[in-house]
Amino acid sequence: MASFHEKASLNHETQKDISLYINGEFTSAVNGTTIKNINPFTNEQINEVAEGRTEDINKAVAAAREAFDNGPWRTMKLTKRMAYIYRIADLIDEEIEKIAYFESLDTGLPISQTRAMVSRASENFRFYARMVESRLVGDAYQVDEEFINYTIHAPVGVAGLITPWNAPFMLETWKVAPALATGNTVVLKPAELSPLSANLLAEIIHKAELPKGVFNVVHGFGEIAGDALVKHPDVQLISFTGETTTGSTIIKNSADTLKSCSMELGGKSPIIVFEDADFNRALDACVWGIYSFNGERCTANSRLFLQEGIKAEFVDALKKRVMNIKLGNPLDAETEVGPLIDKGHYNKVKSYLNIAKEEGAEVITGEIPAEMAKGNFVAPTLLLNAENSMRIAQEEIFGPVLTVMTFKDEEEAIKLANDVDYGLAGYVWTNDIKRGHRVAHKVEAGMLWVNAQNVRDLRTPFGGSKSSGIGREGGHYGFDFYTEQKIIHVSIAEHRIQQFGK
Ligand code: NAD
Repeated sequence: MASFHEKASLNHETQKDISLYINGEFTSAVNGTTIKNINPFTNEQINEVAEGRTEDINKAVAAAREAFDNGPWRTMKLTKRMAYIYRIADLIDEEIEKIAYFESLDTGLPISQTRAMVSRASENFRFYARMVESRLVGDAYQVDEEFINYTIHAPVGVAGLITPWNAPFMLETWKVAPALATGNTVVLKPAELSPLSANLLAEIIHKAELPKGVFNVVHGFGEIAGDALVKHPDVQLISFTGETTTGSTIIKNSADTLKSCSMELGGKSPIIVFEDADFNRALDACVWGIYSFNGERCTANSRLFLQEGIKAEFVDALKKRVMNIKLGNPLDAETEVGPLIDKGHYNKVKSYLNIAKEEGAEVITGEIPAEMAKGNFVAPTLLLNAENSMRIAQEEIFGPVLTVMTFKDEEEAIKLANDVDYGLAGYVWTNDIKRGHRVAHKVEAGMLWVNAQNVRDLRTPFGGSKSSGIGREGGHYGFDFYTEQKIIHVSIAEHRIQQFGK
């Protein structure tokens, strides 16, 4: 835990305005414009952030292009490049407390949770260094005694990385680590609502002394800076995490320059609890899965399907838990749920509580303590007596709001779970091992957990199906996106060559 003095100095540092990071230098935006960065707990200004626009994106892409084409990064010995990646991980570990503090201040996420996310961020770098060392391997194909054909992986070029505000540092590093480790150069466009930790990442990478232009950060609005990055002809790939509608716009806008796009999008994930499930573990997982990260979590289990026989008991237990969840200052280690990212998102989440009433659901929600009136708090909420066709069961609310429904049997549970546009994650709770597997196979989602909350294994593919995404990142699966595979055919004998015109 940070001491009082450390906290005071962190407080002082947060007043600093932050700039863009281009070609190894911290710099203001070309036209000098800034964005006011607001604290979601107080709705007061934290600082001002340089607002990058098209001309700043052009500068950053030019630097990344030059570093890719003529710099040492992509051709340097693997051990040397990985030494940089491990160094970034070590520097993150040295700054866990500071990064977690800034992240909580900026996003409203409780500090106990941002600390865990920052640890995961350093692991993203170490993990990808290990993956590149051990798994970035090609295949060889022998064709009789005539050919040996083999594949190699080459970096793609300039990677444009566009990230959301809901777990900023963790998600930025989730993309930056594989992009850099595989030899690409990077332009990162972080979410305009959560710029602080991306700036710390730039400071860390600066301290690690990566060659100039290898890593660049341009803060700014999605429709301006993000759009310019997506349309830039010298950017080869876009890895995007954010809303489904934004993802669809980005795919359209990247078409003229034929970019490869990886899309990690929204979710409305089911949790199915059968009567034979371990009741208390299912309850713990369900509550954590929807109310952690303030409910602003892409893989949140936002649709609960309870088998009819346990409905009354489970809902009673949920009500007790929900009323007990500790709302508070995100910088307080005891806080379980903090304020939502900004007023706009707060209004959106609140509007769903009205929609729930209009649709005939029962809304169970706690009180917001008076001393928190300035923050964007929505108390943990249960929406009972819901139907799967209602908007509250179909649309991503992205707040601490759980929609509760029931089912009779396995067949109905699967049908209801799949009757939604999204397909990111799914959770099944049962002590019948065969049924657990069966249901997991049939739920339409990229990632399923049986008798567990969202516990990640970085080696496995991450991504969604249906409207939740295109492609898989994570593990060696990320190499399909961050590298170009080339096939080299080598004749080792005198195979027949046609003799036209002889
Ligand atoms: P968002 O789509 O509003 O913004 C994400 C990023 O895209 C921001 O950096 C934004 O500036 C940029 N952007 C916006 N418009 C753009 C455009 N036209 N061109 C280029 N860039 C543009 O998303 P958000 O509100 O920041 O994040 C919440 C969403 O992210 C939720 O839907 C959540 O489910 C999703 N999410 C998905 C995953 C996943 O892995 N599938 C993980 C986290 C969050």
